[in-house]
Amino acid sequence: MKAAVISSPGNVGVETVDDPAPDPSGVVVKVAACGLCGTDLHILRGEFAPTLPIVPGHEFAGEIVAVGGRVRGLAVGDQVAVDPSLYCHECHYCRLGRNNLCERWAAIGVTVPGGAAEYAAAPAANCVKLPSHVRAQDAALIEPLSCAVRGYDILRSRLAGHVLIYGSGTMGLMMLELAKRTGAATVDVVDLNEERLATARSLGCSAAAISADEVERPRGWDVVIDATGNAEAIQDGLGRVGKGGTFLQFGVADYAARAVIEPYRIYNQEITITGSMAVLHSYERAAELFAGGLLDPEVFISDRLPLADYAAALDRFRAGRGRKIQVVP
Ligand SMILES: [Zn+2]
Ligand SMILES: [Zn+2]
Repeated sequence: MKAAVISSPGNVGVETVDDPAPDPSGVVVKVAACGLCGTDLHILRGEFAPTLPIVPGHEFAGEIVAVGGRVRGLAVGDQVAVDPSLYCHECHYCRLGRNNLCERWAAIGVTVPGGAAEYAAAPAANCVKLPSHVRAQDAALIEPLSCAVRGYDILRSRLAGHVLIYGSGTMGLMMLELAKRTGAATVDVVDLNEERLATARSLGCSAAAISADEVERPRGWDVVIDATGNAEAIQDGLGRVGKGGTFLQFGVADYAARAVIEPYRIYNQEITITGSMAVLHSYERAAELFAGGLLDPEVFISDRLPLADYAAALDRFRAGRGRKIQVVP
């Protein structure tokens, strides 16, 4: 089959590789579409993935074409979305139920071959069957959505909060949709890119601006979410949290990024600074929300490129153009 292969840092191409075979408890999925995200760029830079070469792609869905002998409840022909998380289920954190902090954390498309390929193998336990009205190519959005749902689990957000989101790319916009659903009084979005702000406005944010200075919110915000990973945005956002409020680090920052905190204000104003990492018991719920129409795929997926153009798709993503960019085998 054809697959994108990151062979060494900075080198990516589409090659012919062996077809995957299902484990006894696994399936093989014919990939309908695979989304790209910042993790793929980290892998291309030689970070994150412990060993190269790797077939990237952790945001995918498709049709089951083979099942292992011990699989129950899934059959050839089923349309499924795939949770890429691979937990050891044995370490300290897995035993605490905090599997996304697994000491042997692994994922399809990060540590084992992923979905930027014609076919991908996955444990049956990671597959969520799609209802007939959901197109598998759109369902590749469920994985990033499941990360956003995990972020909201961390926030335990209350009704009528004022929410500020940094970044109106795919993840920021997903956070916007969840904020609306969870009863925010207002949801404001900050982004330096006017075109992206226009999309946030079309999705019904309260205000969209290039700086939070332009938004009138004298008490600050109850919830500030960074969905950029950008150190300047993070620093700005930390200062916007109102009394009793929470800052959520959701974007993936560079390892070397630093921000200054104000310990006195954290104490005196009971401010919470927290983070959320990937998926934790949130994939199934993201699939439910997606089937219920939480996201308009035509808004969220801006580019569908052939798998053969994987490198160009990554370039387009890196340039910050569009929203979710997918490759279609
Ligand atoms: Zn991702
Ligand atoms: Zn573990």
